[in-house]
Amino acid sequence: MHRPFNFSAGPATLPQDVLMQAREELLNWQGTGVSVMEMSHRSPEFLHICAQAEHSLRTLLSVPDDFHILFVQAGATAQNAMIPLNIGRAGVIDVAVTGHWSQQSYHEAQRYARQVNLACSGAGTGFTDIPAPAQWQLSGQASYLHLCSNETVHGVEFQQLPDLRALGCDTPLVIDCSSHIAARPLDWSRIGLAYAGAQKNLGPAGLSVVIVRDALLGHALPACPSAFNYRLLADSHSLYSTPPTWSIYMAGLVFDWIARQQDSGLHGLAAVEARNIRQASWLYQAIDASGLYENRVNPAVRSRMNVPFFLTDESLNDAFVSGARARGLLQLNGHKITGGMRASLYNAMTDAGVQALIQYLQDFEQQHSRQASVQQVLA
Ligand SMILES: *Cc1c(COP(=O)(O)O)cnc(C)c1O
Repeated sequence: MHRPFNFSAGPATLPQDVLMQAREELLNWQGTGVSVMEMSHRSPEFLHICAQAEHSLRTLLSVPDDFHILFVQAGATAQNAMIPLNIGRAGVIDVAVTGHWSQQSYHEAQRYARQVNLACSGAGTGFTDIPAPAQWQLSGQASYLHLCSNETVHGVEFQQLPDLRALGCDTPLVIDCSSHIAARPLDWSRIGLAYAGAQKNLGPAGLSVVIVRDALLGHALPACPSAFNYRLLADSHSLYSTPPTWSIYMAGLVFDWIARQQDSGLHGLAAVEARNIRQASWLYQAIDASGLYENRVNPAVRSRMNVPFFLTDESLNDAFVSGARARGLLQLNGHKITGGMRASLYNAMTDAGVQALIQYLQDFEQQHSRQASVQQVLA
């Protein structure tokens, strides 16, 4: 079966093997006679699915033993409230604003903290660059510093996490890694808490993964809802209340799919990372080489996952998108706040998908420049 290539920023493309396995098991999971959707979350079968998903993710991302992996209801936006309620005891939060999503986190934190300190802002460059961490204004007394390690809308990515200790600050680092979790390794020595909504790179919407250092838990504010209290979730292995069982099951299939990947003599996460690097560099090269498309992000911080680009002649935007759709290249429109285009190249994107996109970029540009020269002759 040939499906179109889906460049959606999220909910996003999933590996076809995973969808086929889910279809296979949809009505009758491993001989139980029921779907995972119909199982008690306290049944031995679901406890196994959940524990296995946690184990697979821990192995995949080399999560150290002093971190809990929590499967939490709701998306990343909800965590912008849950994190200050769980670990924001000091009432002071530092936020590095490098694009749309960290800006959202910055605003939401103000509802729960006495003081929210803007550690840096990329607004001056239109979020096309990440201010160097050595220049950040750290308050020194914050409960944590929040950053978004891959900005899904603006297409800027931290190629390495800042080392706050080297900057003379022992504030825990909180990262929103929603749109590049499981696409590259994470340096846990620098992280206090990492969180991600599932629907970019892990599975269906409705689930967030929160990976948190044990030492940060146990001091939730009284207003913190019990259903979102990370200590209670950790103690109950994410089963304080009914978790999003289907999304956890699907994420587990995705983790196992990643572990099976092979590429360039590498396997697992390293294979997926190598593929992501290759696909992103193909696409950026094609954009940079063209006269019709441009990406405005500093090459040193360009995202491997989300590639925003603009047509230098924006009157062609609609024709570009509908021509792409006709070729089976879906959801290339940019986010509504930036306009333009965006191609998201999550783990499930294939080389063939990126090659088809590049071929289309070239064909559309050629066709457009032919039309432009005909118009010049006629004028
Ligand atoms: C998509 C996204 C969010 C928001 O996720 P929701 O599930 O819609 O709440 C937050 N942060 C980042 C980096 C994202 O990509």
